[in-house]
Amino acid sequence: MNLIDFVRKQKFVVGWTDENSYAQMVNDTVIINLHLFLATTAIHEYIHHTHPDIKLDGNLCSKEVQRKTTKLVKSLSKSVLMEIAEVVNKSLAKNQRKAMEDALHRVQKRWETNQ
Ligand SMILES: [Zn+2]
Repeated sequence: MNLIDFVRKQKFVVGWTDENSYAQMVNDTVIINLHLFLATTAIHEYIHHTHPDIKLDGNLCSKEVQRKTTKLVKSLSKSVLMEIAEVVNKSLAKNQRKAMEDALHRVQKRWETNQ
C-alpha cells in the first residue's frame, strides 16, 4: 500500500495520547494528539518571540529553539497544554470564520458592482 492509499483508508480521530507523541495507532485507528501539536506549536513560536537573539539555521529552525520548546512543553501539565491548545483552537476557528465572512463580503461587493 502506498502512502496516499494508506491515508485514504486509515481511520483518524483526535484524542490525547501522551505528552511525547503527536499520534498513536490503537486498534487500527490513528489517534492524532492535536492538543499537543497545537500547544507545542504555540510554545515554539513563544520561544522565538522571547528569544529573538537565537538565529535561524538557514531556513531551518535552530536546535536551541527546539530544545527550549521541548523543555518547556515537558515542564507543563497536561491540563495547561490542553488549555493552551483550546485557546489556539478558538483563534483558528475565529480566523476561519473571519476568512469566510471576508470571502462572502468580497463576492457580495462584486455582485453589487455588476448590478
Ligand atoms: Zn522555529
